[in-house]
Amino acid sequence: MEIDSMEYLPVSAAQACILEAVNTLGAETVPLARSLGRVLAEDICANRDLPPYDVSAMDGFAVRSADLDGVPVELEIIEDIRAGDLPAKMVQAGQCARIMTGAPLPPGADAVVRVEDSQPVTESRVQFALAVKTGHDVRPRGENMRDGDVVLPAGSEITSGAVGILATVKAAQIQVCRCPRVAILSTGDELEALDAPLDPNKIPDANSYALLAQMQALGIEPVLLGIARDDPDELAQYLQRGLEYDVLLVSGGTSVGVHDYVRPTIEKLGVQMRFWRVAMRPGHPMAFGTTERTAVFGLPGNPVSSMVCVEQFVSPAMRRLMGHKNLFRRTVAARLTHPLKKRPGRTEFVRVKLGRDGQGYLASSTGTQGSGVLLSMAQADGLLVAPAESAGLEAGTEVMVQLLDGSAYQSEAG
Ligand code: AMP
Ligand code: MG
Repeated sequence: MEIDSMEYLPVSAAQACILEAVNTLGAETVPLARSLGRVLAEDICANRDLPPYDVSAMDGFAVRSADLDGVPVELEIIEDIRAGDLPAKMVQAGQCARIMTGAPLPPGADAVVRVEDSQPVTESRVQFALAVKTGHDVRPRGENMRDGDVVLPAGSEITSGAVGILATVKAAQIQVCRCPRVAILSTGDELEALDAPLDPNKIPDANSYALLAQMQALGIEPVLLGIARDDPDELAQYLQRGLEYDVLLVSGGTSVGVHDYVRPTIEKLGVQMRFWRVAMRPGHPMAFGTTERTAVFGLPGNPVSSMVCVEQFVSPAMRRLMGHKNLFRRTVAARLTHPLKKRPGRTEFVRVKLGRDGQGYLASSTGTQGSGVLLSMAQADGLLVAPAESAGLEAGTEVMVQLLDGSAYQSEAG
C-alpha cells in the first residue's frame, strides 16, 4: 500500500495497512493446561468413538421397549451395570437391568426408563407404568465424536470448552500459534518511573503499565524496556533493544515537537515507516513501521490516546500474529442518552458506560473526554465509534460501541 507519510489516514486504511504487514507467527508446543486463549496450529481429531457404545443417559433400567407396550408391567432385574462396567448378561423378554448414567446398554435392551418412572416391587423385581420408545434415554455410540473426525480444526481459538475436548482426545501437548514477543518503551524527560520517589514536577509513567495490561488481556506477556529520555542517543539504544522483539510499542515523542525524537531515530535504525498520522480522536499522532523482524507502533504519549490506538491498531495486529481469525472487538448497537458534539473529519472514539432498557443498550459518555483523563478509560464499558463524516449526534441516535475489557459481566443474572 502506497501512503503519503504526511497524510491523515482514515482509521480503516491504517488498520488495513497494518494487517497487510503482519502475518501469523509459527507454531510452538504448549501443555494443555497452558493452552486457554491460544489458537490451534493443527487439526485435532477424535481418537475413539465417544461414547464408545450405546450408553444410558439416566440412572434407571435398561429394558426391551416392546416389553412395556402393555403397561403396567413387572420385570425381573438380572444385573446392575455401572459406568465403566461391561454388561455380563443378555436382557431377555420379561427382564431388565439396573443401569447407571454412562453405562453401556446390555444386549437385548433398546431403551432406558429413569428410576423416577419405576416402582420397586422386590429386590429383583420392578414395575413400570409408562411405555417408552426404542432409543429412549439412550446416548448412541459416537454421539459426541467419531473416531478420526476433526473435532477442532487448525485456526480454532482454544476456549474452556475446547480445553475439555482436547482433554477428551488426550491431547496433552498441543501445537498452537506462537505468541508475539512484545517490548514496551515509554519516552519523555518528564516521566517518573513507578518505583521512583514522587516528584510533583514529573508525570507518572502510566503508559508502560496500561499497555502491559492491554497486552496481558490478549494473553501476551510483554517486556517493559523502561523510560527513554528525550535524547537521540539514549533513545536509539532503547529502540535498538526493542527491535529484537516481534513487536515494539513506543509511546510519546512521536509528534513533531522539537523534543520528539522518535521519528528521526526510528528511521535511522532502518524501520520502514508506513504512516505517521491517523484521522482519529483521541489518537493522533499514531505511527506504524516495520523491519524484517519487527512491527513498530509509535503511540501517542497521552495515556487515553495510546490505549485507544492499541484497541484500534495494535490488538488486531497482535491477534493476527497469534493466529486468530476474529481480530476486532465485538461491537453492540446502543442508543445515545445525550447529544454528542463533533466536527466532521476524524473518527472519534468516545468512552461510554453501557446501560439497558427494554429496547436494548444505552450508551452514556463517562464524562470529560480529554485525552489525558485516564479515568474516562478506566470507567468505560466501551468505545463509541462516531464516524469521521458525522457532524455531531443527537440524543437517541443508534451508535456502535466496541466492548472493552471488563464489559463481559453485569450486576444482575440474565
Ligand atoms: P508526547 O507525545 O511525548 O508529547 O506526550 C504527550 C503527552 O503525554 C505529554 O503530556 C506527556 O507528558 C504525556 N505522556 C507521554 N508519555 C507518557 C507516559 N508514559 N505516561 C503518562 N503520560 C505520558
Ligand atoms: Mg514527550
